[in-house]
Amino acid sequence: MIETNVKNLLNAIPETNAFGEKVVLVAAVKTRTAEEINLAVAAGITDIGDNHVQEFKDKYAYIEGNPRRHFIGRLQTNKIKYLLGKTNLYHSVDRLGLAEELSRQSERAQTASEILIQINIGDELTKGGFSYGEAEKAFRAIRNLPALKVKGLMAMLPLTDDVALLNRLAKKMRALYDGLNDGSFERLSMGMSGDWRLCVDAGSNTIRLGTAIFGTRNYNK
Ligand SMILES: *Cc1c(COP(=O)(O)O)cnc(C)c1O
Repeated sequence: MIETNVKNLLNAIPETNAFGEKVVLVAAVKTRTAEEINLAVAAGITDIGDNHVQEFKDKYAYIEGNPRRHFIGRLQTNKIKYLLGKTNLYHSVDRLGLAEELSRQSERAQTASEILIQINIGDELTKGGFSYGEAEKAFRAIRNLPALKVKGLMAMLPLTDDVALLNRLAKKMRALYDGLNDGSFERLSMGMSGDWRLCVDAGSNTIRLGTAIFGTRNYNK
C-alpha cells in the first residue's frame, strides 16, 4: 500500500508550482515504524519529517536510504541537542526563544541551521507560530541571529471544509512569503494530506504528507 501511495502521489504532485518552483514532498512520519518509513523511501520518498524528538531518536539508526531530514513538530529548547547536525531543515520555528537557542547551540557546534519561520495563519489557539501581524518583526529578529539561515515560512491551515477560507489563507501565506523574501527564501512549507492541492495551487513548494502516504494514524500502537 505504501509503495502504491508514494508512486501515485509522485505522479499526481506537479513537478513545479505556478511560480516555477520545484515542489518537494516531505513524508510526515510520526507514529510510523522504521520499516514503514523505509518502504516509503524505497518507493521514491527523498525527504522525511519528524514531529517528536523521542521518535526521531528511537528510529534514527534504522532509517535506510539517507533521506533528507526535516523537523516539523513543536520543539522544546532542551531537545535541540538531539537534532543538531542531523536535521537538514527545521520547519517549526514558532517563537523567538527557540530561534535564539537554536542559533546559540548551532554556533557552539560550529554549524549553521536552516530554518523556516512558522506562521499561525489561521489565528488558531491550538497552533503554534507567529501571527500574520508579528511575522515581519519576527523575521527581522531571527534573520540577525548568527547561526541560523532563514529559508522561508511554514504554515498549517485550519482543519475545515471551507475551501474558500483555505484558499484565502493559502494565498495570504504566499503573499507574506513574497513580501518578506529578501532573496534568501527557498521554501514555503504548506499543505498536508487534506489540502495539499490547493496549497500548491496557491504557491506552496513544500508539502508534508502523512496519511496520504501511510494511511490513517493509530496513536495507540
Ligand atoms: C502530521 C503532520 C502532517 C501530515 O498530516 P497528514 O494530514 O497526515 O498528511 C504535516 N505537517 C505537520 C506539522 C504534522 O504534524
